[in-house]
Amino acid sequence: HGASSAQTPQAPGVADASLLIRLLFAVSAGYWKDPYIQYFVRQAKERKAPEINRGYYARVQGVHQLLRAFLRTTECNCQVINLGAGLDTTFWKLKDENLLPTKFFEVDFPAIVSRKLYHIKSKPPLSKPIMESHSGESLLIDAHSLDSSRYSIIGADLRNLKDLEERLKRFSLDTQLPTVLMAECVLVYMSPEQSSGLLKWVADTFPTAMFINYEQVNMGDRFGQIMIENLQRRQCHLSGVDACQSLESQMQRMLSSGWEAADAWNMVTVYGHLPQEDIQRIEKLEFLDEKELLDQLLLHYCISWATKDALHLGLARITF
Ligand code: SAM
Repeated sequence: HGASSAQTPQAPGVADASLLIRLLFAVSAGYWKDPYIQYFVRQAKERKAPEINRGYYARVQGVHQLLRAFLRTTECNCQVINLGAGLDTTFWKLKDENLLPTKFFEVDFPAIVSRKLYHIKSKPPLSKPIMESHSGESLLIDAHSLDSSRYSIIGADLRNLKDLEERLKRFSLDTQLPTVLMAECVLVYMSPEQSSGLLKWVADTFPTAMFINYEQVNMGDRFGQIMIENLQRRQCHLSGVDACQSLESQMQRMLSSGWEAADAWNMVTVYGHLPQEDIQRIEKLEFLDEKELLDQLLLHYCISWATKDALHLGLARITF
């Protein structure tokens, strides 16, 4: 088993590069704006089916909507921790929207972090906003980590919680500040015990917090099985897929890890609650022949979220 666990760290990185190419394609097609993604991946030539683009649209907008609601509720006096962030561009988008939290953290495997830092160091449109948001003395950026006053990127394994906590604290994590943690297609790469352990560590460590999780759901049916086979063909080891059986199991995992309130919506429901003018706009971008295909896809992904609210900010009311 030594060999199989040694493979796990690299596998999601493979998925991450192709994910970015597909996100870039949807951005180039006009689904949503992200001027930063182009700096992390070369131009997308590969054309994707419209239902895939609409699926990415729902994911990006859905997660961003909950994140923004948290930032507004806390008036940005808070921390964001993006777990398994990969080459995500949320930091730059929030800066453009004037919604930067007190501090934005990202965690991923050291190899992925190095790749991200290479892009940041070599591309001024990425590095300039970080410099601009920085104040005080030392801005540290080496091959394996970034530490500035508003943005830190940390190479760590989310399955090693002691090390994770130590590194976050070294980069000025304040556990008493309201904190939102995000995990997009990340928990599925960990065993159910490891992801529950992570959720429990967050609930135990942060008295005022929200966890936003996006991942597969309804994996038990035929369509779900095909999705798993496809991912495995791309060498993704989905050890956490058992936790992705139903919305109920998604919610239960959070509630049994010490969270006060939890909810889980499949992406059909999320799609129906996104701003309808924008939905009308994106539905005109590409002709979709079979609406059922989109629904099938959306039915197999979900956003689940949970809150703990020692400061009584009203976090449990955050929804779509
Ligand atoms: N969250 C990003 C997004 O939505 O664009 C990336 C998603 S990618 C499918 C999964 C990411 O999780 C990869 O960057 C991978 O390296 C990271 N990851 C998976 N397991 C991890 C672990 N145990 N520790 C740290 N990072 C991990």
